Amino acid sequence: MRKAKILATLGPASDSQAVIESMITAGVNAVRINMSHGTEEEHTATLERARAAAANLKKPLAILVDLSGPKIRTRTLKDGLPVELKVGEEFTITTREVEGNGQIVSTNFSGLPEAVEPGTRILIDDGAIELIVESETATDIMCRVEVGGWLSERKGINLPNTPLPIASMTEKDEVDLIWAMSKNVDYIALSFVRRAEDCRVVKKKIKELNKRRMGRALLVAKIEKAEAIENLDAIIAETDGVMVARGDLGVETSVEHVPVYQKRIIEKAVANDKFVITATQMLQSMIDSPHPTRAEASDVANAVWDGSDAVMLSAETASGSYPLETVQTMARIIDAAETVKPGELRKPVKFSQPPSGRTSQALCKAAAYAAKEVMTEKVAVFTESGLMARRLSSIRSGLQTFGLTTSIDACNQLALIWGVQPMYHRAVQAVVDPQESIGNVTMMDLSSSVGTDATAELLMVGETTLLEAGVVERGETLIMMAGRLSGHGLSSSVIVWTIGEEIPRR
Ligand code: PGA
Ligand code: MN
Repeated sequence: MRKAKILATLGPASDSQAVIESMITAGVNAVRINMSHGTEEEHTATLERARAAAANLKKPLAILVDLSGPKIRTRTLKDGLPVELKVGEEFTITTREVEGNGQIVSTNFSGLPEAVEPGTRILIDDGAIELIVESETATDIMCRVEVGGWLSERKGINLPNTPLPIASMTEKDEVDLIWAMSKNVDYIALSFVRRAEDCRVVKKKIKELNKRRMGRALLVAKIEKAEAIENLDAIIAETDGVMVARGDLGVETSVEHVPVYQKRIIEKAVANDKFVITATQMLQSMIDSPHPTRAEASDVANAVWDGSDAVMLSAETASGSYPLETVQTMARIIDAAETVKPGELRKPVKFSQPPSGRTSQALCKAAAYAAKEVMTEKVAVFTESGLMARRLSSIRSGLQTFGLTTSIDACNQLALIWGVQPMYHRAVQAVVDPQESIGNVTMMDLSSSVGTDATAELLMVGETTLLEAGVVERGETLIMMAGRLSGHGLSSSVIVWTIGEEIPRR
C-alpha cells in the first residue's frame, strides 16, 4: 500500500469524469479545486465530476478547496493576448480598470499604490518579471522593467518583504468558503497565511458552517510568505495541517531557501500531529513532456522521505498535456521511494519525543509497539470522525493503517492522510451521539445494542470489512484499536487480534 498520498489540482486538462477516473485509478487520493481560477458554476461542475468519478470507482477521494487569500493579481489584457515587457522600459500598474497592454495593466488590489514607495521591488508571474517602483499616484504605480518577459492575463504579483495592509480573507474568499462548506468538502486551504490569527478566523467560520455529524473540514495553512515562516510555530499550533507552497514561497523569500524551509515545515508539522502537503513544480516539466527530469524524480522522493503526507500536482494535472502520465509517474516514484523504510533514513519522530500527556498518543504508541512485538505491519482503527486514524498516522510508525469508519465523510477526508487506507464499514447497532464526543475522539455509544455483545459485534464487522477488502487473511494477526468508544469494552483499546479467532463473548 502506498503511504504518501497524491493530491492533484483539477483544471481544463482534467475536466472530464473519464480523465478524473483514470487519475484516481492511477493513484490520485485527493483533488484540489483552485478558487483562483474559474466561476462558481465551473467549480460546482468540477466538484460533482470528481465525486461522480470516485463513486463510480467506489474509492474514497478527498476534496480540497483552495481559497485564493489576499493574492494580488494583474487583470486582463487586450484580446487576452500576452504582451512583452522589455528591460529598461516603463510599465504602469494601476487600480483603475483599463484594458492591459505593453505599457499598463490593472490590478485587483486597490491598496497597492499605498503599500509601495520608490525603490520597492514588484515581482510578476512567480518572479519571472521584475519591476522597480519609480513613482506613484493614488491609483497608478510607475515602474521601470528590471527583468523583462512575456506577461499573460491574471498573473500573480508579489512584493517580497513589503507588509501589505490587506485582510487575510478577502470578500471573494468569504463567498468561496460558504460555497465550499455548502458542498461539504473535506479540506479548506487558505493562501498567503501570515499569522496564527488568520487560521483562527477561518477555523471559526468552518465550524459555523459545518454540516457534518462528527468532524469537520480541516484547515490547511499555506506557508508561502516570509511572515508565515517567522510565525511558523504559532501557525502550526492553530491549523489542522500545512502546505509547503513552494511556488509563492520561492518568490516571497528566495529559491535557495525553499528546500531549507521545506525540511523545517515538514518536521515541525509532523512533530505536532499536523498533516503536511508538499506542493508546486514537483513534476513541472511534465506539463509539456511525457517524462520527468531526474531532478524532479528526486524531488518527489525526497518530499516523501522528508515526511509529507501528500505531494501535490498543480499545472501538471490542471492544464498540462499529460495529466494521467504525470500521476502514473508520481505514483511510481513514491512506490520506489517507499521501498526504503523510513527508519533506514531517519528515526520516526514520535518515539524520541517527550511524553505528551495525551491518551491518543499513548494508544497510538502502544499500538505501534504491540505491532512490532507480534510482528505485524497492520493496524485497523475504528474511527468515526477520522481523528484517531490521523493521530496514528502522525506518529509515523510505518504501520499499514486501516481507518474503519461508518462515516463516508471521514472516509473521504482520510484519503489524504499518510499511511491510512480508509474503509467504510456498516454501522454496528450503534447510536452515535456527537454531544457526548469528548475531546473530539472517536466515540460510539453501543449501549443500546440489545442482546448482542457490542464489542464482539464491532470486532466482527471490522474483521469482515478487512477480509472483504482483501487486505488481511484468515489466521493473520494484526492490531485492532479504538479511541473512546463509550459504554463497552473497546473503549480506548489496543487489541492483538487474529483474524478468524473466536470472538470473546461476555
Ligand atoms: P498556488 O499555491 O498554486 O495556489 O499558488 C501553491 C504555491 O504557491 O506553491
Ligand atoms: Mn501560492
